Amino acid sequence: MPIPPLVIFGPSGVGKGTLINRLLKEFPNAFGFSVSHTTRTPRPGEIDGKHYHFTNTDNFKFLISQGAFIEHAQFSGNFYGTSAQAVQDVTATGKRCILDIEVQGVQQIKQTPLHAIVVFVSPPSMTALSQRLRGRATDSEDAIQRRLAIARREIDYARQPGSVDYVIVNDDLDAAYQKFKRIANGELDATVDQMPPLDD
Ligand code: ADP
Ligand code: 5GP
Repeated sequence: MPIPPLVIFGPSGVGKGTLINRLLKEFPNAFGFSVSHTTRTPRPGEIDGKHYHFTNTDNFKFLISQGAFIEHAQFSGNFYGTSAQAVQDVTATGKRCILDIEVQGVQQIKQTPLHAIVVFVSPPSMTALSQRLRGRATDSEDAIQRRLAIARREIDYARQPGSVDYVIVNDDLDAAYQKFKRIANGELDATVDQMPPLDD
């Protein structure tokens, strides 16, 4: 049986990409990133084929019609999806596949036979989340507001019993990374952190 993929999910700006990049850097032979398709515009520094397969809406819809995606969703006005090929590209190398997807995708992946392990990355507070989104300086104020509104729905989902396998509160980055690393390496078998109240 192939090693189950690891799905990282959590509000935009919480630090998912930061944690994943660190893991891929430390263990380049053990983990590989599932490169999603998106219709969103690339941010400065993002590389087509590495961070995402950047595409347009017509092509994305064509790929849906071809059954190319194991999950796909609309997020903040754009399409995002994981192709079967993206996961296959990683698993063919014998590495554990890491996916960074939003909540609708998580729900769809859970219906597949992939037996994915789901990790929710929580902010320590909503204030910290909004500071990180602003500090990253990649999104307009309008996009930040939309991402914060979606964040509340994602947090509500993660609070439901049985919705996720692990919770990591990304407060101190090093501490969060140590937990993430142990989960990714299969060294922890219980929920790591409690969900913070996030009522600020
Ligand atoms: P995501 O991939 O979840 O959208 P990013 O990894 O892009 O989030 O992180 C958003 C911003 O928050 C980045 O500027 C990153 O450097 C910063 N960040 C990540 N983790 C922490 C942390 N524990 N404390 C403070 N800032 C953080
Ligand atoms: P961003 O635009 O910040 O890169 O990503 C926005 C959201 O889309 C994040 O929550 C990210 O996890 C999610 N996302 C990225 N790729 C996919 C994908 O292939 N499928 C789904 N469902 N969500 C994705």
